[in-house]
Amino acid sequence: MNIRDRYAPSPTGLQHIGGIRTALFNYLLAQSKQGDFILRLEDTDRNRFDPSFVQNLYDTFRWLGIQWDEGPDIGGPFAPYVQSERFALYQDYALNLLNRGRAYRCFCSTKRLEAIRKERESAHAAAIGYDRHCRYLSPQESEDRADSGEAFTIRLKIPLGESTCFEDQLLGRIEWRNEDLNPDPVLLKSDGFPTYHLANVVDDHVMGISHVLRAQEWLPSTPLHIILYHFFGWKEPEFCHLPMVMGPDGKKLSKRHGATSVDEFRRQGYLPEALINYVALLGASYEEGRDIYLLAELAARFSIDKLNKAPAIFDYKKLEWFNGQYIRAKTNEELALCAMPYAQSAGLFGNPDTQPDADQEKTFIAAMPLIKERVTLLSEIPAKIAYLFREPDLPDVEDFIPRKSDLATAITLLMSGKELVEDLSRFNDADGERLAKEKAEKEQIKLGDLLMPLRVAITGSRVSPPLFGSIRILGAQKSMDRIEHAIASLHSRVHKDL
Ligand code: GLU
Ligand code: ZN
Repeated sequence: MNIRDRYAPSPTGLQHIGGIRTALFNYLLAQSKQGDFILRLEDTDRNRFDPSFVQNLYDTFRWLGIQWDEGPDIGGPFAPYVQSERFALYQDYALNLLNRGRAYRCFCSTKRLEAIRKERESAHAAAIGYDRHCRYLSPQESEDRADSGEAFTIRLKIPLGESTCFEDQLLGRIEWRNEDLNPDPVLLKSDGFPTYHLANVVDDHVMGISHVLRAQEWLPSTPLHIILYHFFGWKEPEFCHLPMVMGPDGKKLSKRHGATSVDEFRRQGYLPEALINYVALLGASYEEGRDIYLLAELAARFSIDKLNKAPAIFDYKKLEWFNGQYIRAKTNEELALCAMPYAQSAGLFGNPDTQPDADQEKTFIAAMPLIKERVTLLSEIPAKIAYLFREPDLPDVEDFIPRKSDLATAITLLMSGKELVEDLSRFNDADGERLAKEKAEKEQIKLGDLLMPLRVAITGSRVSPPLFGSIRILGAQKSMDRIEHAIASLHSRVHKDL
C-alpha cells in the first residue's frame, strides 16, 4: 500500500513540541515506506489566523531539515494545500449531505445557542452542546426559511440509537455510543466557511491520505469523522492517536514547564538534530539500549508498532544531554558555524550583530575544542570564550592567591608562570604539561599553585576552558601582556596594603 500521510496544522500559534512530534512521526512513517508526506494548512479559523505563524512553520521545518513531498509552498497533484483556498469544495460536500438527509440546516441564533449552553452549565446537566432543536424541523419549513434568506449553519445528523467504532492502530478498538458524541456538530458555518471536521475529512479523502497520525486530543473528533466517511461512502484512513506529551509533573506539557515552542529551543541554543532525536523518542522506542539516531536512521527504523501507549514525559534534562552529545560530535568547523549566530548576537566580535573579521573567525574556530566538552547549549559558548576576544576584567585579588598563601607569593608565582608562556604557546598539551611539572618541581611548588594564578591572569577566571589551549590561541605576546598587567595591579595592591 502506498502510504500518504500529512501534517495538518492550524496556523494559530508558533510551532511547538507536540506539533513537531506529530509532523515528525508522519514524516518518518512516510519515509520508512517510501510514501508521501504532505503539509496542509487548516486555516479555517480566520479569526485566529496570522500569516506570521505560517512563516514560523516554514522556518521551523527548514531549520529542522524536514521536507514535505507536497505542500502549499511547493505544490503537488492535489493543490491548493491551503483550506481557505478550497472553500467551494467543502460547500459542495456539505450540500451533498444536506440533500441526502445526512445533515440539516440549523437556524438557531448565536444568542439561543449561548443561552442553552449557559442553562445546561448552571444545571450541571449531563447533556452538553446543541439541543438538536432544528433537527426536527420539517424539510418544507427548512427549505422555506432558507429561501427567505434566513441565515443557517449545516449540522451533521448523527444517527441515534447506534454506536460508532474504529480500530486505532495503537489503542485498538474504540467504540462510542452515538448519544455520547458531540450532538450534531456544525459542518458549515453561516458564512459558508467549513469547520474543522468537514474540511479535514473531505481533504483527507480527496488527497488520498492513507494514514492519520495525530495527537490524542483529537480522539473525540474521530467518531464524528468516521460517521462522515460512512455518510460519504468513503473508506476511512488508518487512524493512530499518538501518546500524550506530559511535563515532568505528569500534567500536559505547557509553558509552565519551560520552553515549548521550537523557536524558544532554538534561541536557547539547541541543535536541530538533538531536538529531532529527542522528540522522536517521545512515545516511541526503537532499539534496546540505543538513544542516538540521526533523522535518516529514524526513518529507516520507524513503524507504528514501535509506538508506546503510555504518555511520554518531556524531560528537559534529557534533551540537554542529547544536545551536549550532538555538540561534541561536531567538527570544530561545523560547531563554529552553528554557534556563530549566538556569538554575533552576544557581541563577541564588537557590537551586537557585528560580523567577525578573518582573525576573529580563525580564533573562534580554534576555540571550539576548548569548550566542546563543557557546554550543553550553543548559547553558553560566547560568554565562555569572551576572554579570547577582549581583555577580561581583572578579577578580585583573592582569586589570584592559592590556598594558605598570600599576595606576595601570588606575584612570585605569576612571574614564574610568565617564564613558561613562550614555550606553552608552541607546545601541545602533553609537552606543556611536562614542562609545567618540571618547573613546579624545580621551584618546589605545587603544580596547581603555579598554574592557578596564571589561569586567572590569562582568562580572567579560576574556572575557565583549558589554559594551555587558551595560551596557544592568544599567542605568547598577548598572554604575557595579560600576566604583566595582572602583576602590576597586584603590586599596586601590595603597596596600598602596606
Ligand atoms: N488542524 C488540526 C490541528 O491543528 C489537525 C488535526 C488532525 O490531524 O486531524 O492539529
Ligand atoms: Zn438550530
